[in-house]
Formats: sequence, C-alpha cells, structure tokens
Amino acid sequence: MKVLIVEDELKVVDYLRSGLTEQGWVVDVAMDGEEGTHLAIEYDYDVIVLDVMLPRRDGFAVLKALRLQKSTPVIMLTARDHINDRVRGLREGADDYLTKPFSFLELVERLHALARRTRAQESTLISVGDLYVDLIGRRATRDGVRLDLTAKEFQLLSVLARRHGDILSKTAITELVWEVDFESHTNVVETAIKRLRAKLDGPFRTKLLHTVRGMGYVLEVREARDLREIREDARQS
Ligand code: CA
Repeated sequence: MKVLIVEDELKVVDYLRSGLTEQGWVVDVAMDGEEGTHLAIEYDYDVIVLDVMLPRRDGFAVLKALRLQKSTPVIMLTARDHINDRVRGLREGADDYLTKPFSFLELVERLHALARRTRAQESTLISVGDLYVDLIGRRATRDGVRLDLTAKEFQLLSVLARRHGDILSKTAITELVWEVDFESHTNVVETAIKRLRAKLDGPFRTKLLHTVRGMGYVLEVREARDLREIREDARQS
C-alpha cells in the first residue's frame, strides 16, 4: 500500500512515517500544499492523508485540484473545533476525516478501509455526447476518431470534461490547467480554447465546447437541452 502524507508539522510527519513504514506501507511526504498537489496528481497512491492548514496552498485547494484529475481516496486532518472544515472537506470530495489529535491505530484502520473501498471505483473514462476522454490512456476520441491534442490541450479538455455541464471561468481554468493565477493573461485561456475548439468541434456538426458570455466555458451537448426547451415550449403553448 502506498500513502502520501501532506502535512507540515514535522512531529506528526515523523510519527506517521515511522509508524506506517513499520506496518509495511510505502510512504511519501509533502510538507506544503503545492508539493502535495504535484505528488498527488503525478503519482498513484492508494490513499492520501491531507492536513487542512498547510503553507503555500491549503488542504482544500489541494483537494480541489486533485479532484479534477483523480479520485484517489483522501482522509483530511482537521482541527478539533473546526466543524466547518469537516463539512467543507467532505463536500469538496474528501472521503473521510480525522480530528487532531488522533490515535495512530484509528488512522491506520481508516486508511485500510478507504484503500479497500475505493480501489476499483475510479472512473477514468468520461463521455460527453460522442466524445470520450480516457484520463488514464490520455486520449480523446469523437465519433470514434482520435483527436490529435497537445499535452496542454488534453489537460484543458480533461478539466472541462470532468466538470462537463458546469460553466468554468477563465480564472478557474487558468488555475487548474496552468496552476497559477495570471488574471491579466486570460488571453492565454482564450487562445488555448480556440485551438482546442478547432480540433474538438471543427470537423463535427454537433458543437460541444460553448462560450458563455461574461462567465466562461462549458462542455456539454446542447441539442438535448434545446430539444427539451422546444418540448417545454410546445407543452406550454
Ligand atoms: Ca498543518
């Protein structure tokens, strides 16, 4: 079993690392949120232990970035009196939480339970209309034809596909694809969207990538909604 610990308190890190290693776990450690995000996305873990209060990027931001790419089980470490942290963590995709200070045996038990529960569940193939995005194989097809995408274009498409039906702002896309905020450089997003759109929608009659004026972009099948609206109109008139 492979676990990632994202925690900045050296005492807790040492305690967990030696305890888990003794039990036969392979342990990686990140001591800030940025490194944690990088490791969590780049490598495959059976489970991740994620502290909320972290330097550079807090636990919620790490979780948010991770969830757009992967469903690795996450147990969050929250402070005793921060009930809101627990609620927020679970709502944003944490699988479990533990309140500090916690017992080591309880943590180990929860880690085993999570790793077992979620092992076979990961959804790695997303479909939107005739578009299929294979997150593991890192390929996308439309109507059975493979789309020839650059790494960045694929990443952009993955972000949109994981949240298909939701409008994503340029700022959100910038953070998720480029992992920085460069508010003043939103034309980077526009350019990337334009390139992706040419490959994704250009050759096809049904358009999937839509611009929502003043709000952002959404990946969805519009026809179905239009039909519903038409039916609704017909019913009302
Ligand atoms: Ca901390």
